[in-house]
Amino acid sequence: METNAKEIIIKGINASPGICIGKAYLVDREGVDIVEKYRIQAKDLSGEIKRFKAAVKKAKDELRKIVEKSPEELQHAHILETHMALLKDKMLYGRTIETVKQESVNAEWALKKVVSNLIEVFQTMTDPYLKERSADVVQVADSIMHNLVGAKKVNIAAIEKRVILVAHDLSPAETSQINLERVMGFITDRGGKASHTGIIARSLEIPAVVGLKNATSTIRNDNLIIIDGNAGTVIIHPTEDTLVKYEEHKLDYEKYKAVITRESQAPAESTDGVRFAVMGNIELPEEVFALLSYGGDGIGLYRTEFQYFNRTDFPSENELFDKYKDVVEVMDPKPVTIRTLDINGDKALTNHFGSKEVNPALGLRAIRYCLKNPQVFNDQLRAILRAAAFGNVRILFPMISTYYEIREANRMLDEAAESLEKEGLPYNRDIEIGAMIEVPSAVIMADVIAENVDFFSIGTNDLIQYSLAIDRGNEQVSHLFQALDPAIIRMLKHVADVAREKDIKIFMCGEMAGTPHHIPLLLGIGMDELSMNPQTIPDIKRVIRSLNVEDARSFMKDVLKQNTAKSTFELIKEAYGSILSEQMYSE
Ligand code: PEP
Ligand code: MG
Repeated sequence: METNAKEIIIKGINASPGICIGKAYLVDREGVDIVEKYRIQAKDLSGEIKRFKAAVKKAKDELRKIVEKSPEELQHAHILETHMALLKDKMLYGRTIETVKQESVNAEWALKKVVSNLIEVFQTMTDPYLKERSADVVQVADSIMHNLVGAKKVNIAAIEKRVILVAHDLSPAETSQINLERVMGFITDRGGKASHTGIIARSLEIPAVVGLKNATSTIRNDNLIIIDGNAGTVIIHPTEDTLVKYEEHKLDYEKYKAVITRESQAPAESTDGVRFAVMGNIELPEEVFALLSYGGDGIGLYRTEFQYFNRTDFPSENELFDKYKDVVEVMDPKPVTIRTLDINGDKALTNHFGSKEVNPALGLRAIRYCLKNPQVFNDQLRAILRAAAFGNVRILFPMISTYYEIREANRMLDEAAESLEKEGLPYNRDIEIGAMIEVPSAVIMADVIAENVDFFSIGTNDLIQYSLAIDRGNEQVSHLFQALDPAIIRMLKHVADVAREKDIKIFMCGEMAGTPHHIPLLLGIGMDELSMNPQTIPDIKRVIRSLNVEDARSFMKDVLKQNTAKSTFELIKEAYGSILSEQMYSE
């Protein structure tokens, strides 16, 4: 405890769970924030461009060294490769050179201008994942800027004391150099939950709070601080009482984690003996290892569109096949649900793949895009069918809103299989086919769609967006984005009843499935399988093990009588509060 200093609590975003207590170590970003503008004479322009190219090359060489040295965690390497690609990207590299030439300005100024324009473009994107990608651009530009201005770099790998890092921002390259024996956790001024730095923190399993805005201006080197990565808070100069309290929290959390992780490989079976598959959602193939370590029973949603980002061309059939095959083989015999391209909408890549839409959420998204671009779709369908020869694959079509779409998707799948047959390539057509139920028209037409598929997978993120007319990425209306809204519950019930009647399976892969206090209701409705962010699997398995499915079914009768999300939440709290205890978050 420090004398004379008042305890300060600052709130940020909980990027990685856990609690740590230790001394702060400030990571400086010397010299790169203040950039001067000066004119370059026409005769010196080519020299200036050379200077810029050399700074990029140096940044690339440094990054390559980090990639080579980076440990087995492929996930990190992938993120670093994204940075490698950004270094060569036309948007950053080409435009900076153009600006130097056209405006006769120094490379630092040109780079700064290009980056701020790019950030503006990223900031208009509604998808939080893409928004976060602006952080990648900034980090890559920073490394070039360091070389241009000759600033000293912080060598995180060389830290010798056991500390908590405090930084304005940490790039994935910096984060991946963290030595776990020295660094207990980290906090940053910048960043959101979907940032790559947060992803790395979660895979390193160290506590992290990001987006604190003014951590670096409030905290000084060697200040005693506490990170509460669960709550997303940081306590500076904790009092003796606070320290004692957090030492206890830390022990409790570690015990809890040890228990749930130990239990997570065991099946999720309710107290009345019903077994549920608890699956993981992945965006990138590298995530399968984490998913397995968290006890995932399979992949319930493989969001394949992420393989189409950060590039200017479409991946080839063989490229896709290789990635899918890797995942399928690692997971075998566990199922891998490959969702076909869900591009556009909030995952638009207008730069490369189309024109800007006025209303993208209602635009040429997902299956609509694929049916309009049969070549892109066909490449993916063939890759999926080929990968299916190597393990347990299911195919899932996103954003089905009419019978026509599911019929067409199936027809194209047949055609892809026929072409593979003709070419004599190994494939497997005997796979389960599913439709995402995430548009109200699909709920209404569920009985017709059911005739064409083996399973439904409910995407609550979009189902809520499209049913309650709430933009899922708009923070102004996020308080209205409620999974427990009776309109949503009735739809879920209807879809589950249709699935039973038509004898097909019913899954859920939206965020609702990974929220502990929704589980009694989802078991009561009759979900066969739930899929979620892999880190949540142990928690959800634990909740399932404490529930009785028969009780949950009769509980549903009361749930269906509720008129508001709030009263539904209160009802869950009343009936299951003692089981869910700390996991009851507000809606
Ligand atoms: C959903 O909409 O609930 C879903 C799982 O898909 P995505 O979040 O990728 O749109
Ligand atoms: Mg969706």
